[in-house]
Amino acid sequence: MPSTSPQSRRTALLGLSTSGALLALGALAEAAAATAALPRSGGATRMPVIFIGHGSPMNAIRENAFTRSLRDWGASLPRPAAILSVSAHWLTNGVTGVGIQARPRTIHDFSGFPDELHQMQYPAPGAPELARQAAAAVKQRTVHGTDRWGLDHGTWTVLRHLYPKADVPVFQLSIDYDQPAAFHHSIGRELAALRERGVLILGSGNVVHNLRATERHLPEAAEASRPWARGYDLAVKRALDTRDDQALIGWQQLSMFAAQAVPTPDHYYPLLYAVGAAEASEPVRHVFEGFHSGTLSMRCVQFG
Ligand code: ZN
Repeated sequence: MPSTSPQSRRTALLGLSTSGALLALGALAEAAAATAALPRSGGATRMPVIFIGHGSPMNAIRENAFTRSLRDWGASLPRPAAILSVSAHWLTNGVTGVGIQARPRTIHDFSGFPDELHQMQYPAPGAPELARQAAAAVKQRTVHGTDRWGLDHGTWTVLRHLYPKADVPVFQLSIDYDQPAAFHHSIGRELAALRERGVLILGSGNVVHNLRATERHLPEAAEASRPWARGYDLAVKRALDTRDDQALIGWQQLSMFAAQAVPTPDHYYPLLYAVGAAEASEPVRHVFEGFHSGTLSMRCVQFG
């Protein structure tokens, strides 16, 4: 059985290790230079914002209620000009990076899984011009364009179900893991303008994610196996339903179960980008609810 616990640690370190490369690559000038082949703009449909609880990389090849729901969801969404993904698996220190490749590579940032998963490709094109626009939309800091990342498994294992043809351009934005929760929410707010340009903003993480407390013999269930997982997931749901963004930003005080449910915030922060990009008045729809491996919340949300 592959171990997702050390794997997750490694993927986090892999992401952190790219921060030097990001700085060295610098930036918007390079992003602009990379825009020779612009993606078609795809019209001006205002896109909703979505958050996906991604769980195990195995979901890329599993048939279950969660992956079926992703397929139905993708078919119901307006077609985006591009997808901006903020994945729990691209963490940087002291910088924010954005992928500017015309052809982002599929990153297999895990180990010990079946060959089929290690060989899998998600050949969606990039969107260098929209990536440049995303960087420009963030006023509070310089966002660095880079070709050193690509699409990590937080992105492609879910997009494989949402957009199985891999024909919608995709680019990623990194999470500066040195910054507090409020920063991530505020970057999301700045990115909201891209929705008018047909960009689907996707946060990919898990609102309850404690790999030391997963129970792998419990593949999928509507209800959590442990009260702390259920309690924290419900506290997040309530805060989303009332759009209590301050409560969501204060995730450590959101529930008495925070320490068990969110031992590290890497998988929680993508939710804050999605919430930040959504207007307070927009409807919140819980597209999928349930738990994998006992305590992993697979909650998926659509705003707007
Ligand atoms: Zn993950």
